[in-house]
Amino acid sequence: MTDQTLDLAGIGIGPFNLSIAALLDSQRSVNALFLDNKPAFSWHPGMQLPGSRLQTSCLKDLVTGVDPCNPHSFLNYLVQHGRFYDFLSANMPAISRAEYADYLGWVAARLGNLRFDSPVESVQFNGNHFVLQVTGRRTPLQSRNLCIGTGIHPHVPPACSNLPPEKCFHSIDIMRRQPNLSGERVTVIGGGQSGAEILLGLMDGIWGEPKSITWISRRPNFEPLDETPFTNQYFTPGYVRAFQTLDESRRRELVRYQKLASDGISPDTLNALYQRLYEYPLAHPDRPAPDLLPGRSLYAVSDGAPMQLLSRNQLDERFEETRADRIILCTGFEHRLPECLEPLTDKLDLDHTGQPRPDTHFSLHWDGPEDRHIYAVNQGRYSHGIAESQLSLMCWRSAVIVNHLTGDERYPVKADGQLPRWFSQSSARTVAGYPTTTGHPQIHY
Ligand SMILES: Cc1cc2nc3c(=O)[nH]c(=O)nc-3n(C[C@H](O)[C@H](O)[C@H](O)COP(=O)(O)OP(=O)(O)OC[C@H]3O[C@@H](n4cnc5c(N)ncnc54)[C@H](O)[C@@H]3O)c2cc1C
Repeated sequence: MTDQTLDLAGIGIGPFNLSIAALLDSQRSVNALFLDNKPAFSWHPGMQLPGSRLQTSCLKDLVTGVDPCNPHSFLNYLVQHGRFYDFLSANMPAISRAEYADYLGWVAARLGNLRFDSPVESVQFNGNHFVLQVTGRRTPLQSRNLCIGTGIHPHVPPACSNLPPEKCFHSIDIMRRQPNLSGERVTVIGGGQSGAEILLGLMDGIWGEPKSITWISRRPNFEPLDETPFTNQYFTPGYVRAFQTLDESRRRELVRYQKLASDGISPDTLNALYQRLYEYPLAHPDRPAPDLLPGRSLYAVSDGAPMQLLSRNQLDERFEETRADRIILCTGFEHRLPECLEPLTDKLDLDHTGQPRPDTHFSLHWDGPEDRHIYAVNQGRYSHGIAESQLSLMCWRSAVIVNHLTGDERYPVKADGQLPRWFSQSSARTVAGYPTTTGHPQIHY
């Protein structure tokens, strides 16, 4: 590892920082190094379920949207592996998650600016540089700028927080854990994509033959991801730029309203699930059909053999009790800054929920010199919108960061995605009696 002062130290090597590393690979003037805990690159290995697919176009890869001739593109991965024509003939609406992980791993293996087995323990600022303590490294690393790319953390609902991990665990780990669920009453909590995939896996007997399967979801139904064209416009630079100009309460309102644009079940998965449920009684006449319980909020779980789950039906407002030997949580993820940044927390400008506020260049507001930046990816859902935690705009965001870091327009980042006109024309004016932009008019849905 380098003893020189870095221009950029990246903490975490998931797809988002990998994309920045891939763009910087050709920028010899920038001395950057990216660090990760893991022994080698992997992408959510615990959720590589058989048949699981990417919810995003493979053209939205690490580099193509801003640098289509870059050698780290998905198309070059296909060509180098002799799969380009086979890929075209496969005529797939979406590639498998396994292939996407393989593509990312291929890029990671080609880059010289990554270090694995390198957990960052703490980051301090010495008045001029960030100083990173890295496990296994005697002398700390110094860098002028940081990029935080430490990803998301599994969310455990409060009702489940005290349950033993062998009885209740998050889906993110399931393929590593490979639990034997034969003969058990299994309850899946959470009605998004992961919940649907786990239910399919349970019905297919990936983890043995459960005695019974229950699926509890707070959502009023098992709802589809909206992948239609105008909704996809939320995942464009033009929309993100318009979104950033809104005040915070309106941004939060829109993120709630747009939930199904980023957090629903793929229509293909829903069809497969429904068909499997329909055929289940014929395929398994000796077992009860899965019990589907949408619109239920989990209130409490009491540990025991079996565990007792108390949930409330939002439709008729009655409480229900169900039993489970195992609970699989598909309850999503939380965004939070990594513990290694704790020494800097006092210097960061956090919002009322304790979240950082990335600016238009994905740089956090902080109490430090203006020419020292703490960039953060996947931390700005409420500042940049729902695209922030998705792969769709990853390379655009990387290009914005690289341009800002180098002070140079090295990659095109114009506000592409203006098919609907998000902003009023410059000649538009406030009509007397109507609220101005600061008056927070209500959004009608
Ligand atoms: C199962 C699953 C499927 C998904 N599928 C899609 C999809 O199809 N389309 C889409 O748009 N989005 C998808 N997403 C959402 C999103 O694209 C992914 O979560 C993506 O991996 C986020 O990338 P990231 O780089 O922010 O974080 P991560 O991939 O979580 O990587 C963070 C990295 O930081 C490292 N790290 C953490 N702390 C430290 C430290 N202190 N020191 C060093 N390293 C550290 C971790 O080891 C990890 O490797 C999916 C998410 C999941 C969970």
